[in-house]
Amino acid sequence: MQVENNKSLQHVNTFGINAYAKYFTEIFSENEFQEITADTKFKNEKKLILGGGSNILFTKNFDGLVIRNSLQGIDVRREDAYHVWIRVAAGEAWQTFVRFCVDRNLAGVENLSLIPGSTGAAPMQNIGAYGVEVKETCEEVETMEVATGQRTIFKSGECEFGYRDSVFKNKLRDQFFITAVSFRLNKIFKPKINYGDIKKTLEEMRADEITVKTVSDAVIKIRSSKLPDPRDIGNAGSFFKNPVVAKKKFEELILQHPLMPNYAEGNNKIKIPAGWLIEQCGWKGKRTGDAGVHAKQALVIVNYGNASGEEIYSLSRQVQNSVNERFGIELQTEVNII
Ligand SMILES: Cc1cc2nc3c(=O)[nH]c(=O)nc-3n(C[C@H](O)[C@H](O)[C@H](O)COP(=O)(O)OP(=O)(O)OC[C@H]3O[C@@H](n4cnc5c(N)ncnc54)[C@H](O)[C@@H]3O)c2cc1C
Repeated sequence: MQVENNKSLQHVNTFGINAYAKYFTEIFSENEFQEITADTKFKNEKKLILGGGSNILFTKNFDGLVIRNSLQGIDVRREDAYHVWIRVAAGEAWQTFVRFCVDRNLAGVENLSLIPGSTGAAPMQNIGAYGVEVKETCEEVETMEVATGQRTIFKSGECEFGYRDSVFKNKLRDQFFITAVSFRLNKIFKPKINYGDIKKTLEEMRADEITVKTVSDAVIKIRSSKLPDPRDIGNAGSFFKNPVVAKKKFEELILQHPLMPNYAEGNNKIKIPAGWLIEQCGWKGKRTGDAGVHAKQALVIVNYGNASGEEIYSLSRQVQNSVNERFGIELQTEVNII
């Protein structure tokens, strides 16, 4: 296993930020993880597990060991008349797993097509898109404790999944390396196409039948037209979470802003699209140096070339402040700030 010193992270984060890691290594097996974490040289170093780097913003150099996870393997474990259970090693690209399911007509993750990053990071923030979250198919998460190398399996119910949240992003942050995720896919397809433009896109595609494959194709088509591709412009998808406010607060807001879009969340809570709030504050398409708010998607902060992590972060703080001043809403970041 090779460990590099003072390694640029520019090509392993989708923002394209040129931060440096004091130490960097890529691991291909659980044994390599145990070896590197047991090595006395790194025992007292801070550690960061990195997948595809598509939900991370480096605001400074990382003064410790970055461990890039490249564990591979997709195994069908068992099946019955209705379901198939699949175990996926954490370093497999999420989209590789989605394609594996779509090719076999297995339903459950087709609405999550084309989300960048690794499968191991999917439970970390309970990835979601087009009305589906990974918690719906995730059965268990295999981990190794970073400090001890000890293996622990978290059943789905123990992961404390929430909206872009889990125990791994919260209470147990940076304490566990997710090594594999097991999913239960459905043989019987119940399409979820009432979200976003899926239905409209299926019609435009003149899909004769609504299948796992056509829904996946529709999601890919929509995402490719709406979201900036990190290969062209650095970004990490939605920078902020959509805020969820109490109904009482929402009733005050809607009096002043009658056009505010909103979605009932249950429990007397209302979700408001963060992109709309940011747009109302005049940020859409604004640019300071190489840091900017995307012209089509106000929720996405972009690096047009050579922005530093600090510049991106500073822009995000300005956006947060103006939304707070105008609406009294504190936007939470979805991206992991390092
Ligand atoms: C264009 C674009 C569109 C996106 N769209 C969506 C979307 O629709 N829905 C959505 O939910 N997200 C979306 N994202 C965000 C991102 O794709 C997901 O959060 C993805 O799961 C991140 O995976 P990653 O491997 O790149 O994680 P990284 O960025 O490498 O890591 C993210 C965090 O997880 C931790 N981590 C990573 N792997 C592990 C592991 N194996 N064990 C423990 N901790 C780990 C890291 O330490 C870090 O804190 C989008 C991003 C981009 C760039």
